[in-house]
Amino acid sequence: MSKDYYKILGVPKSATKDEVKKAYRKLAMQYHPDRNPGDKVSEEKFKEAAQAYEVLSDDAKRQQYDQVGHDRFQDMSSGGGHHGMDMNDIFANFGDIFSQFGDIFGGGPQHNTRGKKRSEPAPQQGHDKAEKISISLKDAFLGKKEEIGYYRFVPCKECDHKGTAQGTSYQTCSRCKGMGQVNVQHGFFAVAQACAACGGNGFTIPSPCKPCKGQSRVLEYDKFTLNIPAGIFNDAELRVPSKGDAGIFGGPAGNLFIKIRVLADTKFKRIEDDLVCTLMLTYPQLVLGGQAEIESIDGSKEVVKIPKGCPVGEKIIIAGKGFEKLRNKVRGNLVIITQCHIPKKISAEAKQLLSDYSDLVGTDAKDSEGFVTGLFKKIFG
Ligand SMILES: [Zn+2]
Ligand SMILES: [Zn+2]
Repeated sequence: MSKDYYKILGVPKSATKDEVKKAYRKLAMQYHPDRNPGDKVSEEKFKEAAQAYEVLSDDAKRQQYDQVGHDRFQDMSSGGGHHGMDMNDIFANFGDIFSQFGDIFGGGPQHNTRGKKRSEPAPQQGHDKAEKISISLKDAFLGKKEEIGYYRFVPCKECDHKGTAQGTSYQTCSRCKGMGQVNVQHGFFAVAQACAACGGNGFTIPSPCKPCKGQSRVLEYDKFTLNIPAGIFNDAELRVPSKGDAGIFGGPAGNLFIKIRVLADTKFKRIEDDLVCTLMLTYPQLVLGGQAEIESIDGSKEVVKIPKGCPVGEKIIIAGKGFEKLRNKVRGNLVIITQCHIPKKISAEAKQLLSDYSDLVGTDAKDSEGFVTGLFKKIFG
């Protein structure tokens, strides 16, 4: 049981054409396949909205629809095994709805430069496309191969991106003789208007290719493996040549721009090309110095040398173990910042030792040096 077209678009029965168009545009933007790649529910909603718009934007169809009601209208219009519209229908019929978002969505109708004689289409470059992906800081550190899946126009194979059915060709528009415009007399003035017979193109396609409906390209879900280089930084944009929309009538394809978002990590941070983390140490470790082993972001083990009398907040640097620089492959450093762990609870024995220690060094933080070594000999010796 399908929904009422007015309900689908969310407009009242009294809605004006403009309101219908606005409502459709809003839904089409929301459920656009570019924004919801691979999402079947959105695709259905996108088609449903286009179907509703097809009827409600056409005065004659809308009148009939209002008269006979939704179910009967559907019965009447689905006589020939009509299974709704496919994506190419939608872009072919309503592509202009998206034209104001041109660079984002592409796929609008082709516009000829009017006044130039044309008997066949001029190849046009396809639009660039934009995608966004998020990767972990570890992926940014190591580099990654990521599969990108998205909708884009690809050249129609059936007609070899000509738009014409096999064995047929373009025809110069007989109304405007290929000029794309006609002169309309307004009193004394002749005003040039876009030719309605050819949509201002100057040519017509008498037998359009079926799969692409004469558009020379079709919308397809495309996939490829993107190589994300090690060292990629947050908000970087990768340009993938020719992976945007296919050109129209054999024009070059646009590019694909992929914006990379690097997600925050719980343990590591990136500062310029350095990989930065903190290392929690006990007070005796800081005072006595020694070694600690840490696991870096890629799982490799690093031995950290803690100097004697190491302050909190000290930066211990392991050279060349940071991020790879994109340009020259030189690496930044691994920077380990020391911290002191202060336990909330300690055993009675530890407490006794600590208070003995406190008695020994006193509470004047300045002149406690010198006692330290001796004391820890006592504790650990
Ligand atoms: Zn075709
Ligand atoms: Zn014409």
